[in-house]
Amino acid sequence: MNNSDVRIRLASPIMGDAEYRAVQRVLRSGTLTNGEETQAFEAEFADLHEVPHAVAFANGTVALTAMLAAYGIGPGDEVIVPSLTFVSTATAVVHVGAVPVFAEVEPETLTLDAAHVASVITGRTRAVMAVHYAGQAADMDALRAVASAAGLLLEDAAQAHGARYHGRPVGGLGEAAMFSFTPTKNITTGEGGMVTTRDAATAAALRRLRNHGLPPDGRGTRSLGYNWRLTEMQAAIGREQLHRLDGILRRKRANAGRLRTLLADVPVDLPVERTDRTATYMLMTLRSDQHRDAILAALAARRIEARVYFPPVHRDPVFSARGVRLPTTEAICDKIFSVPFHCRLTDAELVDIAATITSAIEQCQTVGADRRRR
Ligand SMILES: *Cc1c(COP(=O)(O)O)cnc(C)c1O
Repeated sequence: MNNSDVRIRLASPIMGDAEYRAVQRVLRSGTLTNGEETQAFEAEFADLHEVPHAVAFANGTVALTAMLAAYGIGPGDEVIVPSLTFVSTATAVVHVGAVPVFAEVEPETLTLDAAHVASVITGRTRAVMAVHYAGQAADMDALRAVASAAGLLLEDAAQAHGARYHGRPVGGLGEAAMFSFTPTKNITTGEGGMVTTRDAATAAALRRLRNHGLPPDGRGTRSLGYNWRLTEMQAAIGREQLHRLDGILRRKRANAGRLRTLLADVPVDLPVERTDRTATYMLMTLRSDQHRDAILAALAARRIEARVYFPPVHRDPVFSARGVRLPTTEAICDKIFSVPFHCRLTDAELVDIAATITSAIEQCQTVGADRRRR
């Protein structure tokens, strides 16, 4: 679908006067990178997730790569990741020279299945990377129990700003966590990323990697580093977006309730919400056992943007040569589809989305009944 043809978009970030003023403030200040806005954004983000350290990056993918590099993960090491995730959860592992080992997800929450993770741990496993799918935390207690013998428990929290598990925010549940601020996420800086951690030494390593391997005071010996800095303009936008986060999450939870009501009598599965977690609904991922492709076609015909999040990464051309089979993930990926669920959706749009899904399924059922009659 061409962008201009879309009636209801998957993503529609809020950028208001506060963000415009913040960018103007930075442009007038003359400090465009490596300054006080970045420091303030980091401090405010760390506070919100109840961790002592947050380090901002140019995007989520390099933040993830830096997180692995900060722990010295590299050639000869394995990192266990789910296959049902955005591709960069796995490509970041490759970029540090390590090998991603794909594990199954639980069919209900679509997050890593601890029992399957345990079955793929080897002597080379250095870390388990939990992805908080759509903003619902993985079962971190179960994963901690299997990961602690093998190595680190890390969080890909790209979709989960402000999510909670047993009352505690994500970002401090593993040794370190990555967040993304790309425009499809609940809050955005255009591009941007963040790593949170409780460990001061890890935070210091992350800061060096981000800034050409330089020690914080600019003196002492350089280590191998990169330029992975966020700009001051983006950091200033990020600080304003943080003020909006609570409202966005409340709105999304209300909309999730509304969609559940609208689809209550329709044979389509809505996300399973665990009572010990608070999800952020970065994605609204539905499931249809038999009619997924017909529903996607009906949504496209009504110019409603919808997509499969995510095609299984182990089947991606970059990784498929290894011939890994994950039957649970493969079956799930044939059934799931994600519909627009940004926080600016109107009630009429929610009704439209639900009605399109409903009529697509009804049509399939009528055609099926006709065939059987003939
Ligand atoms: C968005 C996302 C990323 C990558 O973040 P970018 O900022 O786009 O690089 C990684 N993992 C998951 C699960 C994501 O959803």
